[in-house]
Amino acid sequence: MAAKLIKGGEISKQIREEITKEIQELKEKQGLTPGLATILVGEDPGSKVYVGQKEKACNNMGIYSARTDVPEDTSEAELLGMVNKFNDDPKIHGILVQLPLPKHINAERVIYAINPDKDVDCFHPVNVGKLMIGTGRFLPCTPHGIMELLKRSGTETAGKHTVVVGRSNIVGKPIANLMLQRSPGGNSTVTLCHTGTKDLGHFTRMADILIVAIGQPKAITGDMVKDGVVVIDVGVNRIGKTPEGKGILAGDVDFDSVEKKASAITPVPGGVGPMTITMLMKNTVEAAKLTL
Ligand code: NDP
Repeated sequence: MAAKLIKGGEISKQIREEITKEIQELKEKQGLTPGLATILVGEDPGSKVYVGQKEKACNNMGIYSARTDVPEDTSEAELLGMVNKFNDDPKIHGILVQLPLPKHINAERVIYAINPDKDVDCFHPVNVGKLMIGTGRFLPCTPHGIMELLKRSGTETAGKHTVVVGRSNIVGKPIANLMLQRSPGGNSTVTLCHTGTKDLGHFTRMADILIVAIGQPKAITGDMVKDGVVVIDVGVNRIGKTPEGKGILAGDVDFDSVEKKASAITPVPGGVGPMTITMLMKNTVEAAKLTL
């Protein structure tokens, strides 16, 4: 039987409607308009697209958006000055510095300068620590999106074996942590794999839930999963272009062979991707509510 598709586009739309309603209520009942500041340094085309998508999402959902684009040669001191300005601005509840930053800027120093109460990306060590303890006010956007996909697709996580492949600070480590928290949507037994893992297939074949974030196109194949597995494919890899010049995307999972064995699977595109910005909007609303 073909796997059920976990459609991130549809789930994301549903969550955006819920957030938009909450924003309207905050405006009407509390006189509060959530605000997000984005800072983009340089001309990286991918980063420009992401910042544009975030600005558009703010506009569509009623979040005040302050976008600052500055040249590649902006100094670290100037960037820190901008972050501090937004830290002090009561109209701004979330601050997002688009990564990667140019090499002459120390990204760690910039992230550490963001007020943790406005760190809607959840990259500040205070928020990373709270996530570990299980008291996080913000959850990092992509892992949070994965949790929502699992929840809203009716996937039971408690008592299941979740195998995460990839240990980045942005996806792998935080999602592994969230899946093991003793709370709804977690309570899994978690295995975390990486390039040092010997015989990756041995572990992935044990997964009831398999979450893959490695940036290697189609690396997880049908022979590496068991029947009935739920697969979340975080990978976004450009593997070529159509004759019309449009980019062709592939996930980290070989969809065709894995889909035959899985009970549910996210497509690429249209799975995890649409969730990330939606969860950023949610965090901006949560940050605004901290000021009430
Ligand atoms: P990173 O490159 O930061 O981390 C990749 C991780 O995967 C590393 O821990 C690495 O191990 C591990 N890894 C790489 N190759 C293998 C392999 N063959 N076997 C086992 N482990 C491996 O990537 P990110 O976490 O930032 O992103 C991963 C993918 O997810 C990318 O395709 C990215 O584009 C996508 N992504 C998608 C998002 C979305 O919104 N849909 C958001 C964020 C990322 P080691 O530590 O040993 O080097």
